[in-house]
Amino acid sequence: MKLVEQAFVELLPEKDISDYELKLKYHNKFKPYNANVRYLRNTIQFNLSKKWKGVSREIQIGLIQGLLLRIFKIKKKTTNIDLYNIFMRNIHIAVPKTKTDYVLESSFNRVNEKYFYGLIERPNLAWGGDSLRKLGSYEYGSDTITISRIFYDNEMLLDYIMYHEVLHKKHKFKDKNGRNYHHTKHFRRDEKEFGNSKEMEKEISRLINKKRVRTFLRF
Ligand SMILES: [Zn+2]
Repeated sequence: MKLVEQAFVELLPEKDISDYELKLKYHNKFKPYNANVRYLRNTIQFNLSKKWKGVSREIQIGLIQGLLLRIFKIKKKTTNIDLYNIFMRNIHIAVPKTKTDYVLESSFNRVNEKYFYGLIERPNLAWGGDSLRKLGSYEYGSDTITISRIFYDNEMLLDYIMYHEVLHKKHKFKDKNGRNYHHTKHFRRDEKEFGNSKEMEKEISRLINKKRVRTFLRF
């Protein structure tokens, strides 16, 4: 049986698989371990980063099943989904650390020393664009923290954003009935450790407004 078919029938035995056309495609240009799903009429197309090809069938089935739960809006648990979650929580160990930058690494080191006793292994670090909306992100599959370049000159805010993203690396995610939760209660509690978060959020809004005005004047 094909991988996608096995994932489908084991997760949704009550549905008739012949009502659907299941397709699986591996993509070269996807970020490592990224995946998405398109559901149009009765065709379900799974798009997976090529990196998934080297991963065991059991784990890939878990990934496909998680995507199926999302499109059918169902909550359910399977052993394969558990395996997939364990894999994603641990993949950072195997990811090569190739990307860094002096300013980002200094910020990471300050945050790591001050809040984590230096115990967090350095992830890949990269600047994003000058985004005013996407301020920072942590990607499990590539073990990468990306931070908007608008924080380049502001050490205090940079550390604040860095701290949030390092927390994502530390906490990973909680799964419940096939859903993953990233900003858990425990996460929010740790987030407050930084202190002054209200003031920080205000400073961020101020910085964003300033940048916005500047962008406006340029045109
Ligand atoms: Zn977050």
